[in-house]
Amino acid sequence: MEHQVSHRPPPRVLVFPLPAQGPVNSMLKLAELLALEGLYVTFLNTHFTHNRLLLHTDMQARFETYPGFLFKTISDGLPDDHPRSGDTIMEVIHSINSESKSIFKQLLLSNELGTSEGNPLVSCIIVDGIFGGFTTDIANELHIPIIHFRTFGACCIWVNMNIPNVIEAGELPVRGEEDMDRLIKNVPAMESFLRFRDLPSFCRASDLTDPNLQVFVQQTLHSPRAQAIILNTFEDLEGPILSRIRTLCPNIYSIGPLHMQLKRRLASKESSFQSFNSLFEVDRSCMTWLDAQPPKTVIYISFGSITVMKINQLIEFWYGLVNSNIRFLWVARLDLVAGDGNHAQIPPELLEKTKDRGFIVGWAPQEEVLAHPAVGGFLTHSGWNSILESIVAAVPMICWPYFADQQVNSRFVSEVWKLGMDMKDVCDRKIIEKMLNDLMVERNEEFSKAANKMGRLARQSVHKGGSSYHNLDRLIEDIRLTSS
Ligand code: UDP
Repeated sequence: MEHQVSHRPPPRVLVFPLPAQGPVNSMLKLAELLALEGLYVTFLNTHFTHNRLLLHTDMQARFETYPGFLFKTISDGLPDDHPRSGDTIMEVIHSINSESKSIFKQLLLSNELGTSEGNPLVSCIIVDGIFGGFTTDIANELHIPIIHFRTFGACCIWVNMNIPNVIEAGELPVRGEEDMDRLIKNVPAMESFLRFRDLPSFCRASDLTDPNLQVFVQQTLHSPRAQAIILNTFEDLEGPILSRIRTLCPNIYSIGPLHMQLKRRLASKESSFQSFNSLFEVDRSCMTWLDAQPPKTVIYISFGSITVMKINQLIEFWYGLVNSNIRFLWVARLDLVAGDGNHAQIPPELLEKTKDRGFIVGWAPQEEVLAHPAVGGFLTHSGWNSILESIVAAVPMICWPYFADQQVNSRFVSEVWKLGMDMKDVCDRKIIEKMLNDLMVERNEEFSKAANKMGRLARQSVHKGGSSYHNLDRLIEDIRLTSS
């Protein structure tokens, strides 16, 4: 029998992230992976975030090299002068969920998301699951397959899926500070270690109709309506939790750590990896400083793109650092401190005391920093991307979670994976000093051993034959099949 050679263009996949640093980071990497494997991709970003990416990266030049790759933009529905920084990200989420339905539908019905040559129409949607409700309604109406990408770890997604049961059983709302160490009974598989203080931050609301709590719970309830779920995780890290999620959403593609997966696949095609997804201006001067530090002596400190702390918390961190005598690289975003603060608020005598062993930047090339031989620990807000990047680099962590999924993540880092310590809800110079010393000196061997083991498993998962490698191939194959 003669085989017919198909001249049909590849399917076009629409990738629509939550327009914040972490989600854009992982979804742009997924977009590049799909393009690398020959799919046409349209990356739909908000005007604001797209312009910030253009300002700080030369991604346009990079992605133009992929046939059929397009960047398109959509309004987030907020006024131009809205800050869209720090935790005002929640306002962006609410606005897109309430304002974007009709424009999203119009875009899909028009030919604007594709090119006139090749296939102009979208044949598969991959959307951040936080927008899972309205996008799934439209996808179903237009008969377009839709996949939800959850940028959190499986651990937090499983908690979110169970919050309605936790509420129904009367375990929420919290009854006060004395209640915070109570174990939660209604998240299966986590009964022995998940305390109230480890639930996603929005569960601390005294009013259960709180819109931030509701958006996380309600959007997660839409997950089973999608054809599949993509998670930036790997089986050796979260296998047991993934099995639980599969009881509600059978088709899960666990394809992480995505940054490592992209690196590997680019290398196999003799193409070089570079991050093109920074919303901030990267200061590379810290790499030269790191080159001059002895191996494994530096603690890298970064609280991600959204965390905002109070000035007294900043001062506690500084005293902890000064008293620990440990070398550090600190990322002090201009909007890290509430109000108009920045690192200029650090008392000059503290800066003076650490000038020979500390370095401060506004934004670092984090993946490279974590891979640098001088870095031996990471003081992190435990955002999901930061955790995966630390795991791949085999760097143990001290977690100081700020919001959303970070409270769950930090509990898993300390209690389940034993990759570091959880400083949750505490910001005290003595404890900071002790934890820094434990991580970098006293208990360094124990944590480094666990981190090396998990790092190896993470890297293996994206090798040919590894679970994440296989799952990405399966995802691409399934997109091709459902689009043919
Ligand atoms: N990041 C970076 N440079 C920095 C701080 C953070 O490149 O100085 C990157 C980091 O590598 C990660 C992302 O920003 O990929 C932050 O995502 P995460 O999920 O950890 O936290 P979020 O910012 O969403 O709270």
